[in-house]
Amino acid sequence: MTQHKEPPDAAARRAVAPVICYPTATLPEPPLEACRAAWSSARKAGTVRVPPREARVVEVPAGGFLRIVCPERPQVGDLNLFSAHDLSERFYSGKTRALHGSHVTAGDRLWSCFPWLRPMATIVEDTLAWYGIDEHGGAVHDVIGTRCDPYTGRLLSGTDYHHCCHSNLTRALAAHLGVPVAEAEPHVHDVLNVFMCTGFTRDAGRYFMKASPVRAGDHLLLFAEIDLLAVLSACPGGDCGARHSSDDAACHPLDLEVFVGPPPDGWRPPEPNAYGRSHGAGS
Ligand SMILES: [Zn+2]
Repeated sequence: MTQHKEPPDAAARRAVAPVICYPTATLPEPPLEACRAAWSSARKAGTVRVPPREARVVEVPAGGFLRIVCPERPQVGDLNLFSAHDLSERFYSGKTRALHGSHVTAGDRLWSCFPWLRPMATIVEDTLAWYGIDEHGGAVHDVIGTRCDPYTGRLLSGTDYHHCCHSNLTRALAAHLGVPVAEAEPHVHDVLNVFMCTGFTRDAGRYFMKASPVRAGDHLLLFAEIDLLAVLSACPGGDCGARHSSDDAACHPLDLEVFVGPPPDGWRPPEPNAYGRSHGAGS
């Protein structure tokens, strides 16, 4: 392999200051105070327990709340979000990452894909917000991972495992829609890794996970900005402290709690992105 020597000005090139790709000062402020006031009068409409190594679906009306709870022992969850009216509008992990960072917490929003690019949900409360960024560069609730899946499992181990998050999400969505798994699978997308603690190694930039700091009672509270279909998988990795994509790890349930009530004062569901979609064609 060709060896490429450092140029004489290598240090100067590296020393250039970074700039934030997407400054967010012009983003509309999420109505956090109004959401918290609405939360105080919201009532629980239902709870769905997600069994270990399975996924479940709930619908959350715009103006309502979804609380994702760790009810027993440390467990991470892989979340997909869709517009309840059009599955092609779905959570856009990559743009959420570009706007808010590699991990999300209270005050951040979960954005939908093009051409909508609007907030699907706003994170109102995160009981793990205290965690911050640890000495390894790890943090909680990432939008950098994709989801564990049987294709990568096959690639790396040569075996088939059917309870990866990708398959769990696919089965749950198929059951909810009443369609074959082959029809549901293309809707499954990159997730929000709820409660998962991840980062990139400092030396080689490798994606890592470590045992989640989540404990019983911890939760992530989402305000639904649009009518949502939410699908959550209780990852076969359990707390993701060792392995995933197998039955090796101890695995526990998660709860999906839906709350409804009067919407926050002054809040309206966000409109789809206003870009005209000509893409300059014909101009
Ligand atoms: Zn998983």
